[in-house]
Amino acid sequence: MYWKKLSKEERKNKIQNALSENVNFAKDSTLGYPASKLDGKVFYDADFLKDAPVLQTFVSNPNHIGCHTLGDSESAFKGTHELEKEVLNVLAVDVFKAQPDSFDGYISPGGTEANIQAIWMYRNFFKYNRDARLDEIAILASEDTHYSIPKAANLLSLEWLKIPVDFEYRCIDVTALEEIIGKAKNNGKKYFIVVSNMGTTMFGSVDDPDDYITILEQYNLEYKIHIDGAYGGFVYPFSNENSRINFSNPKISSITIDAHKMLQAPYGTGIFICRKGLIENVLTEEAQYVEGMDLTLCGSRSGANAIAVWMILFTYGPHKWFEKISVLQMRTQFLCNELDQMNIKYFREPFMNIVTIHAEFIPKEIAEKYHLVPETHNHENKWYKIVLMNHVEIEHLTTFIAELKEGIYA
Ligand SMILES: *Cc1c(COP(=O)(O)O)cnc(C)c1O
Repeated sequence: MYWKKLSKEERKNKIQNALSENVNFAKDSTLGYPASKLDGKVFYDADFLKDAPVLQTFVSNPNHIGCHTLGDSESAFKGTHELEKEVLNVLAVDVFKAQPDSFDGYISPGGTEANIQAIWMYRNFFKYNRDARLDEIAILASEDTHYSIPKAANLLSLEWLKIPVDFEYRCIDVTALEEIIGKAKNNGKKYFIVVSNMGTTMFGSVDDPDDYITILEQYNLEYKIHIDGAYGGFVYPFSNENSRINFSNPKISSITIDAHKMLQAPYGTGIFICRKGLIENVLTEEAQYVEGMDLTLCGSRSGANAIAVWMILFTYGPHKWFEKISVLQMRTQFLCNELDQMNIKYFREPFMNIVTIHAEFIPKEIAEKYHLVPETHNHENKWYKIVLMNHVEIEHLTTFIAELKEGIYA
């Protein structure tokens, strides 16, 4: 509905029109804000900026403080706020199958904040609507979950129940999950915040939200489900067109998607999206100098980052993005075929572009030379991962394979 490919000229015009609807610190008399364009001695108005709309936005320095899908927003930057809303429409509706206008969200400093925002929101939902005590609420997430979840648990004083996964297949151990949930219920836990991964950082493994749903419903427990798609959000929905890990599943209420990983956007572009009616649980009423409601964890945030994401999405359009992901999938398959021929053991989620190899097959020198990332930075490491990013081409893979072969036969 919202996502299209635009020409260079169209993109430039959209962004320049958006900037013209923002206050212009270079021309307007704006006396009240502790804000301005970037320091002109350093970020001077170079000629080439008029052909570089993202950099132009960067220099004009709009603030996207607050949340622009609900209530009023800071009117000084309404032009670029509109483009942030377009980004959220593309992701929530076109990619993650929400109904138009049925969601809230914002571009956060990263996946960490988006995950914390989700858990904060659900914690308060249970507090305000169910009168829950902190020790009646628990977070459920697998042992392969990103460390932002224990960080959130610590900040929000919640217990994280860590669910074991199968060593080879990295899927949730449902027997252990049932045991843990049963025990938690007996210990007085009543409300569960599930973080289900759509692409774990180390393995690219994708959890099945139904594993959680089935058991929690069987035990008659109340829960909310957040999808951590920081890693997989720009890959999995394109490689697996039948994916149901999206808002078409009424049990799923929020998603994190990092644009600064697979989308190659600048850092500072984590994306948080949730169904309507939830984000009010993190309203900070004291934020009275901000026009509109403050519903986000961070305060000020860069409008240029929103424009950078907008620019990438509308440069590609959905079909070109699908093509890009398909190429990464082919390279991943190439690597897997080579590893199979050498009888090297690895894990790969079929719809992801990450290959995680058993460490015993990788000589340390080769791991270091190719900057493979270990699961743990100590002698107990059991895995090394290869991420098939855009810059990782078949050529690089063939030299890596050749060296690996030499090493093994030596
Ligand atoms: C990278 C990542 C995060 C955290 O993202 P930052 O943008 O680094 O804060 C969260 N979850 C997963 C699965 C990730 O891969």
